[in-house]
Formats: sequence, C-alpha cells, structure tokens
Amino acid sequence: MSLLELDGVAKSFPGAEVLRGIDLRLELARSAALVGPSGSGKSTILHLIAGFLRPDRGEIRVAGVDVVKAGEDELAELRNARMGFVFQEHHLLPQLSALDNALLPTLVGAAQPEARDRAEHLLARVGLKERLRHRPGTLSGGERQRVALVRALVRKPALLLADEPTGALDGKSAAALAELLAELNAEEGVALLVVTHSLPLARRMQQRFELVDGSLKELVPA
Ligand code: ADP
Ligand code: MG
Repeated sequence: MSLLELDGVAKSFPGAEVLRGIDLRLELARSAALVGPSGSGKSTILHLIAGFLRPDRGEIRVAGVDVVKAGEDELAELRNARMGFVFQEHHLLPQLSALDNALLPTLVGAAQPEARDRAEHLLARVGLKERLRHRPGTLSGGERQRVALVRALVRKPALLLADEPTGALDGKSAAALAELLAELNAEEGVALLVVTHSLPLARRMQQRFELVDGSLKELVPA
C-alpha cells in the first residue's frame, strides 16, 4: 500500500473536463512535484486528495483511508491527523505570535503536551528562533511562509500538500523555502506533494508529475 493512491480519478466542472482519469502513487516519506499549465487542474487534485471535493469517478486513498467514501467526520480526522497544508498565501492569524500560529492545529482534539516543544523546535529549525513572539505583520514574506510550513508540520503529518508555496515569494526567499521543504521531507519523514511553477523547486523533489489536458504523466529525467 502506498501512502497516497489515486486510480482513474476524473473530475469535471460545468463546461470543463478537468481530470480525465488520472493515476498517482506517492510512497511514505517521498517527495513529488506536480507541474502543469495554469488552469490544468493541479489545485483540483489537491482538493480531491484532501476530500474537499469529490471525484466524478475513480478512487483516492490516503494512508489506507478511502477519501471518496469517507464521511465528513472521518475526513476531518484524516486531515487533522495525517495531512498538512501550505498555500501560496500564508493564512496566518495577524493577532497571534509566530509560535501561537504554529500551534493552532494542535488546539483541535486531544491535548498534545509536547506540541509546544515541537513547535519551538521546528521554528528554530526553519531559522525563526528569535521570532517566536513576533506577529505575522512584523515578519518578512519568507518568514511568514516558514511559520506556515511549521504550522503544517506541527502535528507530524504523513503527507504535506503544498499549493504553489513559493508563488508569492521573491527569488531568494523561494529558494530558501524550497531547500527547507526538501530538508524537512528527509528529516521529518513527511511525504510531499508540491504544486509549483518553480523549476528549481520541482527539481528538488524526488519525482515530477506533469498534468496536461486532463492526463497525468511522470516526467523521467533523460
Ligand atoms: P490549476 O491549479 O492547475 O491552475 P485548478 O485546479 O484551479 O487549476 O482549475 C482547473 C479548472 O477547473 C479551471 O478551468 C477552473 O476554472 C476550473 N475550476 C476549478 N474549481 C472550480 C469550481 N469550484 N467550479 C467551477 N470550475 C472550477
Ligand atoms: Mg492552482
């Protein structure tokens, strides 16, 4: 069993046949980039994996859980316990410190006594040891996105889904985040599926998949 399994997944919106039956496998602790033209359906794939959308047909499993058949409670539990999310925008809460933002996912469900130590450790790991008490408004774009990355990792997810995580960053901050993603993939054993337009980021992932005309194919280096 792979961590992530998509079989024959199809999805249309009114007037747009976006996914025409795609297959995808991602193993535990592996990293993959998902590339393709704007509007090709990359975000749709992530939304389907997270169970925010249902496919028209096909199967999706995350850590053995059938995402298509799962009920809302089971999906919420799967997302909280197994998945982390990073978006192009950081979506941090402006009134909370970096540390409290990073701890937000740990407020759901059973108390997690080690959460604070882990959040502080991860924030230090991404270079924010001196920024724990800072609010998002006093951080740079790259720093904010690193807080968002820590928030996504704080519950030790098996799978991190990132949708153009460097899309709003300048070149230098984007390169730093790409490096952190690759390093944390290895250190934390978290599998990554990263949608990106950035060639340097895509190259840092172990596998690359391209979505074109509703079909997904793995790009194999020549
Ligand atoms: P990408 O992330 O690759 O840029 P998306 O997955 O966001 O592409 O969108 C793929 C296509 O599906 C686009 O044509 C978009 O307009 C359409 N689409 C996405 N979500 C919806 C929706 N909720 N309702 C209708 N059309 C949608
Ligand atoms: Mg998108």
